[in-house]
Amino acid sequence: SAVIVAIDGPSGTGKSSTSKAVAAKLGLRYLDTGAQYRAITWWMITNGVDTEDPHAIAVAAGKPAIVSGTDPCAPTITVDGLDASGPIRTKEVTSKVSAVSAVPEVRTRITELQRTIAADADGGIVVEGRDIGTTVLPDADLKVFLTASAEARAARRSGELKGKEATDLAATKEALIKRDAADSGRKTSPLAKAGDAVEVDTTELTLDQVIECVVTLVEE
Ligand code: C5P
Repeated sequence: SAVIVAIDGPSGTGKSSTSKAVAAKLGLRYLDTGAQYRAITWWMITNGVDTEDPHAIAVAAGKPAIVSGTDPCAPTITVDGLDASGPIRTKEVTSKVSAVSAVPEVRTRITELQRTIAADADGGIVVEGRDIGTTVLPDADLKVFLTASAEARAARRSGELKGKEATDLAATKEALIKRDAADSGRKTSPLAKAGDAVEVDTTELTLDQVIECVVTLVEE
């Protein structure tokens, strides 16, 4: 039967790398829900919607067609047929995504997409995000909540950004803490650990160790 794995946690905990690798190892599909929220944010920006106006965002929330490809070895995302995988990683999108994601109409829309993708995933899926275990897929077979110290998370994120956009560790750490606070503080399905999630602190672990740990949890 199809196994559903929910992996939640703040940014920089290795969620994406872990989720992709676990899905690839176990022959499961993979969904990056952060990419969906980034995609709708990118659409708002490119279509002139004020990302500080929750009402304008709510009105537009149903408009973009967001399609996710769920191969863990080559995940894709398109918005109205356009490849969005590059543009959704810009600093502008990163700085605006929390505000857009906090709008209930956006969450309802994206949550529906996520549930449909999970239900259609032959053999099962690993879904990573902030509210997967608590809200999107509360009946998941396994829920994992990844954590790490703010220092470790900032160091990983700034390593990822290196060469793409000029960045320094202190600024990265500040932006990351600000985004996590916004994601944890919003009223509708905030970043949170489900009561039945297994918490894994990745601060002192290598990526391979985290992957191994989650694979073992799935197989138990
Ligand atoms: O995982 P990533 O950093 O790409 O997520 C980008 C943003 O999307 C998060 O900071 C959060 O605002 C939003 N998000 C969310 N719910 C999810 C996944 C992401 O609100 N399940």
